[in-house]
Amino acid sequence: MEKGNKEYKPHCLILPFPLQGHINPMLQFSKRLAHKGIRTTMVTTKYLFKTIQESLGSIPVETISDGYDNGGLAEAGSAVAYVEKFLKIGPKTLTDLIERLKNSSDSAVDCIIYDPFIPWGLDVAKKFGLVGAMFFTQSCAVDQIYYYVYKGEIKLPITDNEIRVPGLPVLESSDMPSFIYVYGSYPTGLEVLLNQFQNVEKADWVLVNTFHKLEQEVIDWMAKFWPVKAIGPTIPSMYLDKMLLNDKEYGFSILKPDTDACKEWLHERQTRSVIYVSFGSLAQLQVEQMEELAKGLRMSNKCFLWVVRASEESKLPENFANETSKKGLIVSWCPQLEVLAHDSVGCFITHCGWNSTLEAMSLGIPVVAMPRWSDQCTNAKFVSDIWKTGIRTRADEKGIVRDTEIVRCVELVTDGDEGKEIRMNAIKWKEMAREAVDKGGSSDRNIEEFVSALVNPLS
Ligand code: UDP
Repeated sequence: MEKGNKEYKPHCLILPFPLQGHINPMLQFSKRLAHKGIRTTMVTTKYLFKTIQESLGSIPVETISDGYDNGGLAEAGSAVAYVEKFLKIGPKTLTDLIERLKNSSDSAVDCIIYDPFIPWGLDVAKKFGLVGAMFFTQSCAVDQIYYYVYKGEIKLPITDNEIRVPGLPVLESSDMPSFIYVYGSYPTGLEVLLNQFQNVEKADWVLVNTFHKLEQEVIDWMAKFWPVKAIGPTIPSMYLDKMLLNDKEYGFSILKPDTDACKEWLHERQTRSVIYVSFGSLAQLQVEQMEELAKGLRMSNKCFLWVVRASEESKLPENFANETSKKGLIVSWCPQLEVLAHDSVGCFITHCGWNSTLEAMSLGIPVVAMPRWSDQCTNAKFVSDIWKTGIRTRADEKGIVRDTEIVRCVELVTDGDEGKEIRMNAIKWKEMAREAVDKGGSSDRNIEEFVSALVNPLS
């Protein structure tokens, strides 16, 4: 089908950085676009493609190379080596892919939706005269903070305790992303995050996984300078309705989820009786922190479903899983959206990765925030003080959140009178998230606008 024909369906390549927290929202967004008549193809690295644990459903996949086809980041040995080689090899292999698709009659590419962790995605798009749409997988607040560091308006290392950034409430220095607050703690990470903005002014669209009511001021501020469109949360609307929980098309897991065990176990639990605990795909806990968490979960009067990734398992107290098997289930990975949507779950102890934050909010689950690093401290600040859908745990002078503090926070968000407002807010934000993605909602209208510009590029 030729371009210009009424039936022509534009084709978008979706290019996430190969991390779970980046793939998930971009995959969901590609499904949303596909529902609206756009052809989408996910582009993963060759290594990642080999490791996918669940099908992508109806979305086709193509591969490019990061230079580490046999082991990805682990093969690279360091983030610096990985990023450097990806920058050398990635653009060439993406160029080859677009050339190949150009020559096949109905797969020519119209647009690249790229993760700004790989800003060269836009350079390749522009080389071919394609539409280039940036897709931020972190919150707008966090993007704005990094942008102000990039512009040199927030000077590093930070010396003030009060940080003022347009569109954001006054933040304390410890509310900043850890790569900024603990300057020098992860220079490669900081570099990648600042490089996101190196060519932002050339992007045709700046898509953000958030929704207007959630981050209104900062979205409006950014929209003065860039073509910003909030399109989130990218959680399938069916999950908001709790209707299609068996939809196998949801996943793209790098780790294998223990879906049946989780579901069976949750089905046997009473409504709102379970604490769901997860620290996402990357965060690591100190051994002492793991022990305190284990003690807290054991002490609590609630059941728990705890995701302990295989790489973290050795930190669990000896025999803990056996000793607590009556009240707890430990799995190495779970279908998180299905878990959060389950009636048995009453609260979520989370590291506050942006996806987990949005997922909890969209499903109305109150949160106990235990941020570890990166953007999680900033997300935790908003969860506890701005949206008020959860409480942030207090660490002791060693930086450890003790067992009694964990129990206090869980009780507060699930049972206590004090937590009533939090539980009501969780429901309120769930409804607002749903409104945004439902037909005619703010995010839905933004997606429609994006789709319509792709379909009718000249109008
Ligand atoms: N997730 C999952 N199963 C788990 C834990 C996490 O499917 O057992 C998903 C979760 O739903 C989210 C993503 O992994 O979409 C984690 O992203 P997030 O931004 O919360 O944290 P990150 O892993 O990037 O630190």
